[in-house]
Amino acid sequence: MRRKRVLVTGGAGFLGSHLCEKLLSLGHDVICLDNYYTGTRANIRHLLSNPYFELIRHDVTVPILLEVDQIYNLACPASPVHYQQDPVKTIRTNIQGAINMLDLALNTGARILQASTSEVYGDPEIHPQTENYWGHVNPIGPRSCYDEGKRCAETLFFDYFRQYGVDIKVVRIFNTYGPRMDIEDGRVISNFINQALHNRDITLYGDGMQTRSFCYVSDLIEALVLMMDSATGFTGPVNLGNPEEVTIRDIAQEIIKITESCSGMVSCPLPTDDPRQRKPDITLAQTVLGWTPEVGLEEGLQRSVQWFRTGSA
Ligand code: NAD
Ligand code: UDP
Repeated sequence: MRRKRVLVTGGAGFLGSHLCEKLLSLGHDVICLDNYYTGTRANIRHLLSNPYFELIRHDVTVPILLEVDQIYNLACPASPVHYQQDPVKTIRTNIQGAINMLDLALNTGARILQASTSEVYGDPEIHPQTENYWGHVNPIGPRSCYDEGKRCAETLFFDYFRQYGVDIKVVRIFNTYGPRMDIEDGRVISNFINQALHNRDITLYGDGMQTRSFCYVSDLIEALVLMMDSATGFTGPVNLGNPEEVTIRDIAQEIIKITESCSGMVSCPLPTDDPRQRKPDITLAQTVLGWTPEVGLEEGLQRSVQWFRTGSA
């Protein structure tokens, strides 16, 4: 395999830091670009002494010229709490960031992968979600800055592909969890583990009967690399996630069990436009990428709890 120069935007975040690690282990030169909006230097500190790792503090909304062979575009806050903090910035990151990275791909001939999301399906009316479903998204709600931003980024990717022939890959990532999630980011797994470890009440939003499907981070990273290295012309979009669907209440019970916590559960208001159900149909990823997630929910949660307890998985 030829050593490639790979740019990871959002490389100091949860997924980005695992991806940088994986790409280095495969023998690539990795440039991690991040403005530390939600990511931290701590996430990639252990990579700084690697001579094939470079770190650039930069905002994707500003153009940049770098000579690279591949671009993974992950820069964007991912938790509802973070992306709703400054919604205009979230849209700018999604759209201006995508344009800048696509222009970079156009100018350098690099292949570019977009980290899109299951949120493009909104509150889905078909279940499980397949890639040909166009979604059910509120364009003016509090989640829209993220959902519509990601949808527009997908549009841009496909327009650069059709209009300029840019070599694109688009993946739709479903809820992913694991070590290095930000404990304060308000996402369900980090919130529940944090609450359980401190024997505080678990905050169930609504009745807790809404569902999600959670993918362990190592499985997801495997799939990102497989997609980037897939045949030319296979653009996606491809769903990436673990189809094991659970209610949020079940997740709370499982985390209480694993942590042997004394926490109870408390009901809190359901956030506006919170999707009722979500589960990926991953037939396309299985068929074309030969990928199926391997880490089950119980094992993944155990590893995550261990990390939140000790700082190592
Ligand atoms: P994260 O918040 O941990 O990481 C995002 C990274 O992007 C952070 O390091 C942040 O500092 C950086 N960033 C944000 N805005 C930036 C900007 N303008 N310029 C440069 N860097 C910027 O989130 P994550 O969970 O690692 O998500 C990574 C990507 O995957 C995001 O694009 C997200 O939308 C997508 N995704 C994640 C999930 C998930 O469950 N984790 C699900 C679907 C999609
Ligand atoms: N959730 C919850 N309690 C929390 C945090 C989240 O019940 O403390 C619920 C939330 O309402 C949603 C699900 O868990 O139905 C997943 O939320 P998260 O923010 O992790 O991801 P997303 O909604 O983007 O899938």
